[in-house]
Amino acid sequence: AATGVSTSVRQVKLDKECELRIETSLDSPLRLRLLTGTAEIFGTEIPPEIWLTIPPRLKFAVFTWYGATIEMDGPTETDYTADETPMISYINVHAVLDGRRNRAKASPSDSDTSQGPRVVVVGPTDSGKSTLSRMLLSWAAKQGWKPTFVDLDIGQGSITIPGCVAATPIELPIDPVEGIPLEMPMVYFFGHVTPSANIDHYKVLVKELAQTLEKQFSGNAESRASGMVINTMGWIEGVGYELLLHAIDTFSATVILVLGQEKLCSMLKDVLKNRPNVDVVKLQKSGGVVSRNAKVRQKARGYRIREYFYGPSNDLSPHSNVVNFGDLFIYRIGGGPQAPRSALPIGAEPAADPTRLVPVSINRDLLHLVLAVSYADEPDQIISSNVAGFIYVTDVDMHRKKITYLAPCAGELPSKYLIVGTLTWIEN
Ligand code: ADP
Repeated sequence: AATGVSTSVRQVKLDKECELRIETSLDSPLRLRLLTGTAEIFGTEIPPEIWLTIPPRLKFAVFTWYGATIEMDGPTETDYTADETPMISYINVHAVLDGRRNRAKASPSDSDTSQGPRVVVVGPTDSGKSTLSRMLLSWAAKQGWKPTFVDLDIGQGSITIPGCVAATPIELPIDPVEGIPLEMPMVYFFGHVTPSANIDHYKVLVKELAQTLEKQFSGNAESRASGMVINTMGWIEGVGYELLLHAIDTFSATVILVLGQEKLCSMLKDVLKNRPNVDVVKLQKSGGVVSRNAKVRQKARGYRIREYFYGPSNDLSPHSNVVNFGDLFIYRIGGGPQAPRSALPIGAEPAADPTRLVPVSINRDLLHLVLAVSYADEPDQIISSNVAGFIYVTDVDMHRKKITYLAPCAGELPSKYLIVGTLTWIEN
């Protein structure tokens, strides 16, 4: 039962294959530890006896395969025990993927068979896609594989802030509190939280990311055999569906896991039926997945951006920097003024090139926007370049021609080329 206000230290005994579902309180952390048995949080085993501090507003489950006793200290929004979970079917998928990784490892010289599974996780919003991706990655990492996590969900962002497509190798089970270590993610900045802002640009970035990974894999048998887990957007209708197919193609996916949607599953099965090397598998959605409305999702985006600058446990201190307008070159992709008809060959229609680079002049419209710092050496490389990180514009002084921004660290930015979209954040 939901406890709501309980703040005392309490113990919960979990039978085998059961989970304790928890939503931590809105404003205070929860302490939790494993007293007896074994248990995991989204695929990562929790250590015995040691108190874990779970930050506020987190929704998660402590699952046990063989039984466990959990101790909690502090308030929660809700916590309850569930004995029906789809975990057995999820671990069975993991076992199949593991078999394929072993087969890939056994034939390292053949470029086709040496490729481990490329798994795409699809389903509507709040079907548990990110959570399943995380479990599959953590279980694989526990077994010593180094799978690549690809996140195409620009709406939330599991690897970095929203508005990006990104990838990172997972070398250890993902820490339930710290999340994915941000050592060397490969990040492309789209700058909007929905692909409809610029479909072509989104596709270009997905393709760039896939090509970059392909190059890395060709020189790395271990990563290649470990394969990928690709998390996708919850937009599965119309253009959203087209984009799913685009991702499946672009990443040469071999396994499609469909969460909780019969219709999507049968559509994908049908359209992929002539590809014997692609398996479409339907999986049950967990009853523990918490639905979030548009407002909650928007808030979650804000917290994610905050986390980038301040750390998951508020343990980082970002720097405020002031530079002259002339020190930064800001671009946006697509839109902008079209070429005048007179500048075009006779008969040609002017078209807005959605992947055109448009210089942006600095003014107060940039206030509260999150910008990406490109790795490009030249402006014409910006669209195909990944990004080093992000800054947040806190002040634009038109009079002194100075711009103030927040960055994760002090000092000069790694590049003077910045990309802007529509991604905003109000610091709170
Ligand atoms: P999606 O990626 O499909 O939008 P998520 O995997 O992000 O969905 O899940 C939505 C929310 O539900 C997340 O906050 C996640 O932590 C939570 N959640 C998922 N599975 C469980 C579970 N078994 N028990 C409790 N919370 C869960």
